[in-house]
Amino acid sequence: MNGKALKEANDIKNYLNEIFFKIHKNPELSTQEYKTQALILEELQKMGIEAKKIADTGVLGIIHGKNPGKTVALRADMDALPIEEETDLLYKSKNKGVMHACGHDAHTTILLGAAKILSSRKDSLNGSVKLFFQPAEETIGGALRMIEEGCMENPNVDAVFFGHVSLSLKGTIAVKSGPTSADSNPFTLKFKGKGTHGCAPHNGSDVIVAACQTVIALQTICSRRTAPTDSIVVSIGKFNAGTISNVLPETAEISGIMRTLNPTTRARAKEDLKQIVLGTASAMGVDVEIDMKDGYSSTHNDVEMTDVVINSAKKVLGENSVKILESASMGLEDVGYFFKKSRGCYYNLGVANEEKGYTYPTHSPKFAVDPDAIVNGVALYVQIAEDFLNS
Ligand SMILES: [Zn+2]
Ligand SMILES: [Zn+2]
Repeated sequence: MNGKALKEANDIKNYLNEIFFKIHKNPELSTQEYKTQALILEELQKMGIEAKKIADTGVLGIIHGKNPGKTVALRADMDALPIEEETDLLYKSKNKGVMHACGHDAHTTILLGAAKILSSRKDSLNGSVKLFFQPAEETIGGALRMIEEGCMENPNVDAVFFGHVSLSLKGTIAVKSGPTSADSNPFTLKFKGKGTHGCAPHNGSDVIVAACQTVIALQTICSRRTAPTDSIVVSIGKFNAGTISNVLPETAEISGIMRTLNPTTRARAKEDLKQIVLGTASAMGVDVEIDMKDGYSSTHNDVEMTDVVINSAKKVLGENSVKILESASMGLEDVGYFFKKSRGCYYNLGVANEEKGYTYPTHSPKFAVDPDAIVNGVALYVQIAEDFLNS
């Protein structure tokens, strides 16, 4: 175990708390992260780190090591969620209806902490460290916008690393090579029929019955059309229809997301969805309009970069600090776009603490990160960057 990075992270704990509390208290929604951006730029400037605005509300920083070498990028997302916070934290959100419920405040803090330590070690760095402060992870895929604006070039990035906070781990990390998050296809279905009085359904065409049949039928994409060993999930999260109990409405609208891990399965399942929706609506005598989009792509961890993370974590957090995940998550994450341009690894960073009540999962209104765990994230980023540049 190499305690140097962890000791240095502990030495700046007051700074980390101050930044973390400030960002948590002032959460900003995707594409509106202007104050967070200003704070990051100000902090990097104080550290003497070259930085500029990117992707409208993001920040791209770079630390040039004294010695030539490779370029590694460390990433943090910055955006909050439209959730009303229900914690008792002293630094609770003061923006009504907006909350850092996915830990992106912790990610930004961790990257600022790592930047502070790495820039103080500039003279012994072999290569460069790019700092990706990425906006809009939760909505439009800010990663793509950063790539379009050139964050992966000048100098070319050789590897990208990202640790997302996890409330099911304490003092440890979890990681796997290969696919780790899902491909997504969000969709909305608009049914149109003929409204009628509830006492005489035969005089109309019932969109509610048609939409219900469709919800059930869509599950057969997973259970009857996809191999039982292949991963796919179709979930309908929104169902809107009608206004009163005795009238059958003219329209119904449902929205959901289909998630897959395999690109071939994804392509086939998109066709299955269209066929099932059109067929069911036709059988029920109503019209339907399908709006399906290609959402985030799945994240693929490079085998060697995963080894870098595992070995760095063992050095910083101890020999038993790494849990190897057996399967991918069907969750979504846009960091995978960076990994299509270079090698990379995404891992989960434990920030739970049951005794202190830090147990609620991401996107819960009670979600809270253990502030004491932030030093682990900082030390790990420092170690990963150095280990990669020295490899
Ligand atoms: Zn999230
Ligand atoms: Zn997140």
